[in-house]
Amino acid sequence: MSPEVLSQRNEALGNLDEQHVKGCIKCQLHETRTNTVFGQGNTAARLVFVGEAPGREEDLQGLAFVGRAGQLLTKMIAAMGLTRDEVFICNILKCRPPDNRDPAPDEIASCWPYLDEQLQIIQPEVIVALGRPAAQTLLRTKESIGRLRGQWHDYYISGIPMVGEATPLMATYHPAYLLRNPADKNKAWSDLQQVMQKLGMKMPQGSRRTRQG
Ligand code: URA
Repeated sequence: MSPEVLSQRNEALGNLDEQHVKGCIKCQLHETRTNTVFGQGNTAARLVFVGEAPGREEDLQGLAFVGRAGQLLTKMIAAMGLTRDEVFICNILKCRPPDNRDPAPDEIASCWPYLDEQLQIIQPEVIVALGRPAAQTLLRTKESIGRLRGQWHDYYISGIPMVGEATPLMATYHPAYLLRNPADKNKAWSDLQQVMQKLGMKMPQGSRRTRQG
């Protein structure tokens, strides 16, 4: 990517964060947040991970996936042969829901345009939706994560199939779920291996048998 395109991207993302997300009061979550969590990583990333919403640590630090689930996500990314600096990591919601409850429909509706714009700016080759709320929101479906995971879906900007080309989206389990249900780590790893194949990445030796710890 040329330095000009990269700097345009960085500027567009910076403006979105500074001028819209940081001061957002579109839903009630602004009343209880410490920080908004825009997301972070490589703005030239080929791969974007989308989670649900900031938790306690994320709210305190203003950074996505820095708590326990984030540590597992870091391991999952490392198992793919990547670092967090090579991908972009963000969430459906930019503010923490109190007590980490599920995002409410009006909160998703308010926040969703920010994510849509982030994805329009970054134009990743592949999107990974982490967990049910992310997968259901991005794919505009009520289907369970158990059914959505492990197969390729099409993500369309603004949800409109006519606007631009589809971006391949893989849904998989959320790292917080995997911390509670480690037996499903193999399924998540097989989902991530499909992502690596799609991106033409070299498969780590012995990867088919390896579980992330
Ligand atoms: N869970 C998420 O979905 N996102 C975070 O940033 C942290 C935990």
